[in-house]
Amino acid sequence: MDVDKIIKKYKLDKEIIEIRRHIHQNPELSEMENETAEYICKKLDEWNIEYIKGVADTGVVATVRGDQPGNVVALRGDMDALPIDEETNVDFASINKGIMHACGHDSHVSILLITARIMNLLKDELKGNVKFFFQPAEETIGGAARMIKDGCMENPKVDYVLGLHVDPAYDTGIVGIRYGKMYAASDMIDLNIRGKSAHGAHPNEGIDTIAVAANIINTVQTVISRNVSPLNSAVCTFGMIKGGTIRNQIADNTRLEGIIRTLDQDTRLSVREKIRTICENIGKAMGAQIEFNVTESYSPLINNDEVTRVAEKNAKHLVGEKGVVLEEYPDLSCEDFSYFAMNKPACYFHLGCHNPQNGARVDLHHPQFTIDENCMMLGVKLQVENVISLLNKGA
Ligand SMILES: [Zn+2]
Ligand SMILES: [Zn+2]
Repeated sequence: MDVDKIIKKYKLDKEIIEIRRHIHQNPELSEMENETAEYICKKLDEWNIEYIKGVADTGVVATVRGDQPGNVVALRGDMDALPIDEETNVDFASINKGIMHACGHDSHVSILLITARIMNLLKDELKGNVKFFFQPAEETIGGAARMIKDGCMENPKVDYVLGLHVDPAYDTGIVGIRYGKMYAASDMIDLNIRGKSAHGAHPNEGIDTIAVAANIINTVQTVISRNVSPLNSAVCTFGMIKGGTIRNQIADNTRLEGIIRTLDQDTRLSVREKIRTICENIGKAMGAQIEFNVTESYSPLINNDEVTRVAEKNAKHLVGEKGVVLEEYPDLSCEDFSYFAMNKPACYFHLGCHNPQNGARVDLHHPQFTIDENCMMLGVKLQVENVISLLNKGA
């Protein structure tokens, strides 16, 4: 099989750009990816690829069945856009005011569609099955977990999962690979401190929740500096504090909202419990009542060594040793691909998308974010090679 010949024969390098521009121009917010899903299904129909829609409401799962038995490999692309007003000058800029594909998910869908098309053209030669997860709501509620709940990992049962994200930190042609811990687990803390009001000149008659909050804010940081290994990582940030109404009155109520980020499940649970203990005990020592609530958000994304080795080898084959950056550090932001990676051996990697001729780098989620469209075909080729390596693994 010669993927380059297929790309040339079917002019897929042009088609991927057309698809991406259509999706870019018609972005939809998380959980509302209806037209995007329709467009994906229309393409799959055109190419005679079977699919199920309505997975996690707006998600689509396509399947290409190879002629011979073998492994099942799934590829994932997220579909949602962001509530951002686009400020690029491209002639295919968003026509949906206040909504923009500023995280590159338009290119992820395009890469996934064209990869599906190539795999379908190759299906006579394939051992095993390939599934394509068009996933909603990465930016908000974790569409990945919902797709798993809706059964995307079953029938046929998935053995390996791969995903990628365009990355403006790298030029086109560079692939970022990381073994092990890659993105953080996220927890949201809601802390409510109840005390007793009194005149500011008579603090002994009240219970000062602002003083309690001050102690908590300081002491909580010792969990990060004294309980988490300096070689591991964790973050606790209180980004919101509200308490009191007037300068000369003891505040009887103070509310804090914050986040905890950790890189593995054990650290996640121990940090969360230490912070809870500190809040409750400082409250107790100072006579205040504490309501401490944690809401779990995304899980930590940890790449599997075996699958990552496959991705590294194929990336080196396609872009050479120098094109592959083995990333030294994880990132304490989050990515809901983590749910697939918790479920089955998986690898998530970064695809450089910055064109140095386009001037300064603009980060993801910025209203001026653009990609170098040439990066997409490399993403397709990487995923095609990864799928074929994993389908044949152990055979
Ligand atoms: Zn994003
Ligand atoms: Zn993203």
